[in-house]
Amino acid sequence: MKELTSKRILVTGGAGFLGSHLCERLVAQGHDVLCVDNFYTGSKRNVAHLLDNANFELMRHDVTFPLYVEVDQIYNLACPASPIHYQYDPVQTTKTSVHGAINMLGLARRVHARLLQASTSEVYGDALCHPQTEDYWGHVNPIGPRACYDEGKRCAETLCMDYRRQHGMDVRIARIFNTYGPRMHPRDGRVISNFVVQALTGEALTVYGDGSQTRCFCYVDDLIDGLMRLMECETPCDGPVNIGNPHEISMLDTARLVIALAQSDSPIAFAPLPADDPSHRCPSIERARGLLDWTPHTPLDIGLGATLDWFRRLIDDAHAAPVAQAAAPHV
Ligand code: NAD
Ligand code: UDP
Ligand code: UDP
Repeated sequence: MKELTSKRILVTGGAGFLGSHLCERLVAQGHDVLCVDNFYTGSKRNVAHLLDNANFELMRHDVTFPLYVEVDQIYNLACPASPIHYQYDPVQTTKTSVHGAINMLGLARRVHARLLQASTSEVYGDALCHPQTEDYWGHVNPIGPRACYDEGKRCAETLCMDYRRQHGMDVRIARIFNTYGPRMHPRDGRVISNFVVQALTGEALTVYGDGSQTRCFCYVDDLIDGLMRLMECETPCDGPVNIGNPHEISMLDTARLVIALAQSDSPIAFAPLPADDPSHRCPSIERARGLLDWTPHTPLDIGLGATLDWFRRLIDDAHAAPVAQAAAPHV
């Protein structure tokens, strides 16, 4: 019975933060998982615990080049996701989103696989509609420093919809909102990893701008559950689906919460707001609720507690020695 229901599943970007959690969950369900990654921001360490599993295979490959494998499903997650990582080599970021999507869609087309594209709330840019619903077209600066990521992901969505219309393919688009949890890169510059490392090491928490800008943070386990439901959904999915936690919080309140949960003496320091930083972001998840019967369950303090525990262990590890400052990707 297990053999009849288990699938061959390709996860691109599988050695990254989200990808490694996804691989773990798929392997636990008995699927045969091929993890493809060029280790640009991800690491073998994130999937080291899966390497001995007969249902897991790790391949070093860059998705901007063609890939010929036989699979039933493709989760296309490959792409640097944090602003400092995707701005480090913006041309490569756009290539990864666009050429990567073309190659994975071409592969899916040849082998008749279902494909889920990891898109992002960044397609809404500095949104003029709040909360953001999937039918909002967005407010993106096409020539700013975030555009390589925002426009790359928008083009990947276009390609998904055109492969669907032109070739009748089965594609799903997940618009992922800010997600956090264990295995975030300690130096990715994202707000949760920065604040957590800063609070645990006694450094000042760096709040950009006046800290009034808001985000909604989804715990990684909830997010992965949403992605897997979207992939398995048998009701036709005609367009993108927001996956995120609608609980909205300002960055200043986030800093205060992290300090309290970590029982830290760290002060708060204000720093300049980066260019094109969206002022508010919050998902409408009505479509995910209706289509997937999905809703996130993990409250922010519980998820942050688990994240703090994981980073504490990482900091105790003599080999990790993380510091909260900008870091280039591994290549
Ligand atoms: P991550 O940087 O931890 O993981 C991305 C993975 O892709 C890394 O392992 C990296 O090495 C790999 N990769 C990058 N370029 C590649 C290439 N050309 N070929 C093969 N592999 C490549 O980021 P993440 O947070 O795990 O994000 C995963 C996906 O989810 C991304 O597509 C991202 O845009 C999307 N997303 C994430 C968030 C979030 O909050 N984490 C929010 C919105 C969207
Ligand atoms: N491709 C791939 N693996 C496959 C099939 C296709 O990587 O198994 C890539 C290949 O680079 C191709 C792209 O996907 O150029 C788009 O494929 P499609 O069939 O849509 O168009 P083609 O370019 O082959 O006409
Ligand atoms: N931010 C902050 N301090 C930090 C890192 C980020 O105040 O040390 C802010 C950042 O300006 C943005 C929010 O936190 O307003 C979320 O930033 P992140 O890079 O995590 O994600 P994104 O901007 O892509 O939502």
